[in-house]
Amino acid sequence: MLKTSYNEPINIIGAGLVGTLLAIYLSKRNYKINIYERRPDPRLITLNSGRSITVTICTRGWKALEQAGLDINYIKSFTVPLPGRIIHYEDGTTSFQPYGAKGEALYAISRNKLNDILLEVLDKKPNVKMFFNKKCIDVKPEECIVELEDYKSKKNSYIKGHPIIATDGAFSSVRSSILKREKYFAYSHQTSDYAHKELLVSKELNKKLSINPEGLHVWPRGRVLILIFPCSDGSSGCSLFLPVEGENSFGSLKTEKNLINFFKNLAPDLLGLFPNLIKQYFSNPISYLYSIKCYPWSYQGNFILLGDAAHAMVPFLGQGMNSGFEDCMVFAECLDSYGNNWPQVLNHFSALRKPNCDAITDLSLQHFLELAELIKNPSFLIRKKTEERMFAKYPSLFIPPHYLISFTDLAYIKAKEAQSTQDEIIDKIMSNLKSNSDLDIDKAIDDYVIATNFTYK
Ligand SMILES: Cc1cc2nc3c(=O)[nH]c(=O)nc-3n(C[C@H](O)[C@H](O)[C@H](O)COP(=O)(O)OP(=O)(O)OC[C@H]3O[C@@H](n4cnc5c(N)ncnc54)[C@H](O)[C@@H]3O)c2cc1C
Repeated sequence: MLKTSYNEPINIIGAGLVGTLLAIYLSKRNYKINIYERRPDPRLITLNSGRSITVTICTRGWKALEQAGLDINYIKSFTVPLPGRIIHYEDGTTSFQPYGAKGEALYAISRNKLNDILLEVLDKKPNVKMFFNKKCIDVKPEECIVELEDYKSKKNSYIKGHPIIATDGAFSSVRSSILKREKYFAYSHQTSDYAHKELLVSKELNKKLSINPEGLHVWPRGRVLILIFPCSDGSSGCSLFLPVEGENSFGSLKTEKNLINFFKNLAPDLLGLFPNLIKQYFSNPISYLYSIKCYPWSYQGNFILLGDAAHAMVPFLGQGMNSGFEDCMVFAECLDSYGNNWPQVLNHFSALRKPNCDAITDLSLQHFLELAELIKNPSFLIRKKTEERMFAKYPSLFIPPHYLISFTDLAYIKAKEAQSTQDEIIDKIMSNLKSNSDLDIDKAIDDYVIATNFTYK
């Protein structure tokens, strides 16, 4: 690893998950780092539970945390391992869908807790300074100047450093400044007609209703999707995904009666699970879902966008943070290869990450259909079963994309390619299916393998 003699401060905008992890990577290489965050220090304030999101860390996320030198066991002690999805059907029955045959698990953790852990690591780094309540309001990329507004005094100040690293999330102000200024900058923002609201399930109610902590609970109800993540303190986080308008939408749930009827009709088993459901529902904010793509992520070696600021995606594959963590790891690798030649570092980083982040942004959007609309569709379930049987029989040849994404660190673009190839294979196998029995599925798979001399990987 290169220890730098570079003397200019690097200014990171945004102390969320990606900004803090990147600062840890850079601090290990002896750079001087200043981080500017628009919010107060989250460890000093009580955060509204409606803003608390549970995120899951997968293999590539762990790898990036480990490579940053973090104590993985310490972080794991705040997580709940989730080895699969527990699907709650309309008739009240449930089924467990494991993520893999070897007990592979995603690890659920409160996003705020993980952020606190990363901030605590930075507290101990003498070469890192953190400035809270400092909101970036403009950037002059040619001169590497950032204009900040102090949250309390409302006074503006200017800082200079090189490069500017924007990790200020999906609504990045750095990106907006660049977009405003530069004609060369391409930006696309795809809104979905879905939004989400976070609700908290208390420890006591969780115990009473015995939400099994060994899985991600899913209530797929057509256009409505309810997810419950068990948390390490015994409580659970619930994400309610609804269309913005129409039947069973955020727009239609206007009164207490609407809300109670909604749960009675779609997930009666959930009624009684939330303390103060009415209060939580009507006071917690609605957040919209969108995919963001933009390019270039850097310009003349002066600034770079990372994490959600560069590539925001809908959360249905749980990859926003994981891909942002991978960004940090790849960024550090580029630094180790190109030293302080910033144009090369930033260009190389963008060239490596942009195609992969586009791929995972697209896959995340596609996966939403699987979770919400298709999971209860019988032919889709047979398709999934066929994929699982194929994976079980040929575990080194046929690895489903969700597995490649969550339980390997294969480039996302390769996972996307695998998805297209595997879709064709499963189509062919399913066209020869006589019934849905395991026996027939296995026979159709064997016939396909013999007929094609199957060696796909
Ligand atoms: C419901 C939901 C579930 C999710 N589940 C998962 C999951 O299971 N796994 C996963 O990998 N990802 C998940 N994600 C995505 C994940 O939360 C994001 O991808 C991740 O938080 C992005 O990190 P970031 O640091 O890039 O941005 P953010 O977390 O948004 O952090 C940006 C930081 O910049 C600060 N900031 C913003 N503007 C300014 C400014 N002008 N000046 C200074 N500071 C500023 C913000 O206050 C914030 O602290 C989920 C997202 C949602 C909404």
